[in-house]
Amino acid sequence: MKKFNTVKTFSNNSVIEERRFLFEVVGISQQGSNNLDYPIRQSGTSFITVPYSRMNQEMTRINRLGGKIVNITPIGINTPVQAQSLSSSSEKTTNNKPMTQAQEKKEKKEVKVPVNIYRPKNPFMGKCIENYELVAEGGSGTVRHLTFDLSDGDLHYLEGQSIGIIPPGEDEKGKPHKLRLYSIASTRHGDNLDDKTVSLCVRQLEYQNEEGETVQGVCSTYLCNLEEGADVAITGPVGKEMLLPDDEDATIVMLATGTGIAPFRAFLWRMFKERELNPDYQFKGLAWLVFGIPYTQNILYKEELEKMAEEYSDNFRLTYAISREQKTDDGGKMYVQSRVSEYADELFELIQKPNTHVYMCGLKGMEPPISETFTAEAEKRGMNWDEMRKQMKKEHRWHVEVY
Ligand SMILES: Cc1cc2nc3c(=O)[nH]c(=O)nc-3n(C[C@H](O)[C@H](O)[C@H](O)COP(=O)(O)OP(=O)(O)OC[C@H]3O[C@@H](n4cnc5c(N)ncnc54)[C@H](O)[C@@H]3O)c2cc1C
Repeated sequence: MKKFNTVKTFSNNSVIEERRFLFEVVGISQQGSNNLDYPIRQSGTSFITVPYSRMNQEMTRINRLGGKIVNITPIGINTPVQAQSLSSSSEKTTNNKPMTQAQEKKEKKEVKVPVNIYRPKNPFMGKCIENYELVAEGGSGTVRHLTFDLSDGDLHYLEGQSIGIIPPGEDEKGKPHKLRLYSIASTRHGDNLDDKTVSLCVRQLEYQNEEGETVQGVCSTYLCNLEEGADVAITGPVGKEMLLPDDEDATIVMLATGTGIAPFRAFLWRMFKERELNPDYQFKGLAWLVFGIPYTQNILYKEELEKMAEEYSDNFRLTYAISREQKTDDGGKMYVQSRVSEYADELFELIQKPNTHVYMCGLKGMEPPISETFTAEAEKRGMNWDEMRKQMKKEHRWHVEVY
């Protein structure tokens, strides 16, 4: 029996299986190509029809024969996808339906990414309107959900961005405290859906120094203890690394630990809870969240997540890695990387798709073991993770924000 807690699983694989793509390939030698069951044009360019389920194998085979894929076109669509730049903007052509005029118009409507509307020298003074605990009784540490009123200013943002908070007071050198960044946990519309708030998910930092004394982090402690009605100095927004692509058919794999859930809460609200507010974005792809926490009581936003997973079971898959409670098959602690290993076949299959994005967010320590796991699992499959990751990064499909 598997010892994990997966709420719902994705069940529309059959839809994906039916998709077919036209690969345009150059550089396959005549000798090598003789073994292939598709025509070679005089110009040396070959066109291969590939069902979705065989994309991976075909790519490997073409590679082995020394060929280079220059275009991938979803069959039935006129615009080819550039194989070398399958970024979020080009992903829009990867679904199987012809584009209507309305869709084309929609594609052109680009939202500008706002940055540094408020800078440290002239921060926006927001008001705290909500501050509540997210860790249930018996869990470890303190994590708070905070909401600030922005209605007196011009601060606006997109999902995946961060804001800066300047704690009041001075550091040990007598200088004003520097700002700390926090990932935004709400969508652009805010928790009240009126475009006038921003929310954060803040863990109070507490650690032992070399003398064995307990030290509390300056800004996180200030925020976690903030009274409703208090003024807060806010800067930003900043960050373009963690933006959500416009593609409604994308696959979004989210790997989170602890407060790393913040941007993904924003993504999931946008995908599933704000459909009526966003006629331009009706998500129908796959969102897969792998969420690492120490105890069940530390599952931040547990109810919201599980409700969405239940309601949108075809499009949202929720997998927990509860390190102090769940065990891997070989008896180890269950971390996010353990899940990566467990689902490696599926993940590698998904990653081959040009409109799959992988996001990682949380404490710095999560990145090395996850990278090692991807490397080892890729090796098992005769793949080179370093190359794959580099390529994904180039295509704006690999997103990391750790702190
Ligand atoms: C892009 C980005 C997004 C972020 N998003 C979030 C978020 O969504 N939620 C969130 O809670 N935080 C987030 N952070 C972290 C946040 O910015 C602060 O760093 C964090 O809240 C601690 O700040 P502080 O002022 O409380 O701690 P400080 O008083 O600044 O203390 C931090 C310092 O303490 C020391 N320290 C920390 N841990 C230890 C330890 N175990 N042992 C010894 N020394 C230690 C280090 O020198 C560290 O620099 C994010 C950071 C970045 C860069």
